[in-house]
Amino acid sequence: MEQYRGKSIYTGIAIGKLQLFSKEKFSVIRRQEPDSDGQIQRYEEAKEKVAEDLLALRTKTAEQAGETEAGIFDAYAMILQDEDFTEYVTRIIRRQKLNAEFAVYSSGEHFVSLLEGKDSDYVRQRSEDIRDVTGRIVDALMGVSFHADMEEPVILMAEDLTPTQIVQMDKARLLAFVLCSGSAYSHSAILARTMGIPALTGIRFDRSLEGHMAVVDGHTGTLIIDPSKDVLSSMIRKQAQENRENAIFAKMKGKETITLGGKKISLYANIGHVDDVTVALSNDAEGIGLFRSEFLYLGAEDYPSEEEQFAAYKTVAEHMAGKKVIIRTLDIGDDKQADYFHLPKENNPAMGLRAIRICLQRPEIFKQQLRAIFRAAAYGNVAVMFPMITSVEEVVRIKEIMAQVEAQLSEWDLPYKVPQMGIMIETPAAAVISDLLAKEVDFFSVGTNDLAQFTLAVDRQSACMDEVYRSDHEAVMRLVKMVIDNGHAVGIPVGICGELGSNPEMTQTLVEMGVDELSVTPSRILPLRKAIREME
Ligand code: PEP
Ligand code: MG
Repeated sequence: MEQYRGKSIYTGIAIGKLQLFSKEKFSVIRRQEPDSDGQIQRYEEAKEKVAEDLLALRTKTAEQAGETEAGIFDAYAMILQDEDFTEYVTRIIRRQKLNAEFAVYSSGEHFVSLLEGKDSDYVRQRSEDIRDVTGRIVDALMGVSFHADMEEPVILMAEDLTPTQIVQMDKARLLAFVLCSGSAYSHSAILARTMGIPALTGIRFDRSLEGHMAVVDGHTGTLIIDPSKDVLSSMIRKQAQENRENAIFAKMKGKETITLGGKKISLYANIGHVDDVTVALSNDAEGIGLFRSEFLYLGAEDYPSEEEQFAAYKTVAEHMAGKKVIIRTLDIGDDKQADYFHLPKENNPAMGLRAIRICLQRPEIFKQQLRAIFRAAAYGNVAVMFPMITSVEEVVRIKEIMAQVEAQLSEWDLPYKVPQMGIMIETPAAAVISDLLAKEVDFFSVGTNDLAQFTLAVDRQSACMDEVYRSDHEAVMRLVKMVIDNGHAVGIPVGICGELGSNPEMTQTLVEMGVDELSVTPSRILPLRKAIREME
């Protein structure tokens, strides 16, 4: 048995085999493919291959374990031949001009999401079956024999993972992440947290560990290789205890988020991908407080079209069925790079050409995204929010562009709605002039991740600065209080969408400061609701 100590990105216990990261095995790349017929043919061929594999497995299982056990493959075959499923896949391929792998993967997630919330063993089993079958089709399309050598989900070990790699991961295959480098506050770490699985960073990458049995303890930041019998059983007990606690949190579903004194808090989810809506809803999110829309740009090889963006935002709005969905316009730049933007090389990209600065310099890209958001707003309760604001002039310019977008859409006679507009307060400049900014917008959302980085002059990506980077630093907290008071002075709500809002140790302080909304990692929603309901 060997033990390594790192830093926790997300809590929880995972027990399973270690697998080293290989892009092909874990990513379902999303690509534009104009030849839809060709993609549909690939899909049909992959289905045939999977049908053959399943038949062979069925025969083998029937011989070795009997007819009853082999019945599972009949259920798989039915899913494989399901007409609704095939229709959904071909629609994505044709309408969004996407590759077959991605169409199959996202169709699988769609059908699983339809089953979410129906709590029975049958439904859970069916979700797993759908995921298994779609995984097999994707593997056949990608020429990967995942299921041949890996029957179970694994603990993934990687030197580092970019935000792009994380958004492309097939979550059904992962028990936990173990990373070598990267801070616990980077975008990669935040996206890993959204998945709600244990994750560590700061663990030495070691190829010889491939295939070993391991335990990830996200509470203590520990990775244990080849655990002894005693350690394994104590970890299994810890995991069972965790499951019992989660069952208590699950009782918070459907309850109001309100203190004993009657203060109501909107408890929303942060998401980075359309598929995360499923996780948000299964954790009973009251809305989406931060939809990091750059996932669409990160996962692509070229600018996503207006139609693609519209389809993604509309899907989220419709799934949330009238609950608020705050879409943040693209925050590309810094660690979130997409080659086709051709951004200049800068020494300090976090303080360079990124986010709203790119949008205002390249208004055509910005207008395209805004049109997609305005159009999606006709299908739900959508609001738009702008990142990295530093001045009133920027907000005025944004409002001019929004007016142009509205005029365009009304001229084109497309259904749309002008969404509520808010800004992120994530620079010290914005916090300091929040009294002026408050008069211009419908709401504030405080991005404490960047606010802490710029207030404390500490790079949030730097692993060696993790001890100094504190979003609960007194200076940051004073700015947060100032923003809440300035927002309330003109009657606009103020939320927190940075990681500070997910920190249970700060919930009471933030509620007492007067915050109206907390937008957090989905798996934090129910524990926070419980804590808020117990507050005076
Ligand atoms: C923030 O800066 O707090 C924030 C929510 O935005 P991001 O983490 O995506 O930079
Ligand atoms: Mg930010």
